[in-house]
Amino acid sequence: MTVRAIGNASIAKVEELCGPGFKPNRMFPRFDQEAFDAQKHWMVSDHVEAGSDRLVGSVHAWVVRTPHHTILIDTCLGNHKTRSAPNWNNLNTPFLDRLQASGVAPESVDLVMCTHLHVDHVGWNTRLENGRWVPTFPNARYLFARKEYAHWEDERRNKSGEEVNGGSFDDSVLPVVAAKQAVMIDVDHQPDPLLTIIDAPGHTPGSIAIRLADGGREAVFSGDIMHHPVQVYYPEWSSQFCWDQDMSAQSRRKVLEHCVEHNSLLCPAHFPGANAGHIHRDRDAFRIEWDR
Ligand SMILES: [Zn+2]
Repeated sequence: MTVRAIGNASIAKVEELCGPGFKPNRMFPRFDQEAFDAQKHWMVSDHVEAGSDRLVGSVHAWVVRTPHHTILIDTCLGNHKTRSAPNWNNLNTPFLDRLQASGVAPESVDLVMCTHLHVDHVGWNTRLENGRWVPTFPNARYLFARKEYAHWEDERRNKSGEEVNGGSFDDSVLPVVAAKQAVMIDVDHQPDPLLTIIDAPGHTPGSIAIRLADGGREAVFSGDIMHHPVQVYYPEWSSQFCWDQDMSAQSRRKVLEHCVEHNSLLCPAHFPGANAGHIHRDRDAFRIEWDR
């Protein structure tokens, strides 16, 4: 396992799943074949499946340990959950064993942070115990962006439970609130002396990025502000899953600019391969230098 240092803090990735998914023309409404082909030489095969061109994606969480807290950022899909996507349905992965192998017992997690409340970012918030969904991390405070939570709570009022983020709002978010472990935060909230929040709406109404800074170094956990590294090169390519295509593109540029300016290590939620990298400006867009 790769453990990266940022000042006195450490970062480790814990993977749940990894494999090929959508074709790029389905993933990106603004897809352009020629532009995609121009980047293919470095994307095959870590990021694009050879032959099929399907985009390779990972579902992983980031563990951040600061001198003050053990923090879990984005909690993947979870086990035993009924989902409409066949490859996400009723999973039984050894995610918690992998987390334990990284030195983190569920009881030792102090803070759980979700960059947004989509199904693949909240799953391990809860686990099944005697037929009930209970918080997986019994001693943690779960920090949800107030604006994000309010949006999905509003959807919940108008729709059935299964329709709100594929059922995950009901089985992976509401039980945390019921257990009184949820804390609604605004973007000026500082969860840890080393952590601050970057407002980055667009993929969802209340998407956030999380900035870790210490000793002159920093990392940015960007959630789904980018799904795939081709979006570093074409930041206007929002995904079909983005709530607002233009707003998402604006936030993507803002976060990428931030990473250039602060020499931040970009740590997205779904980049496979080296998982993280540094961003450089390249004409009117950007490129990524992988942190191997
Ligand atoms: Zn996601």
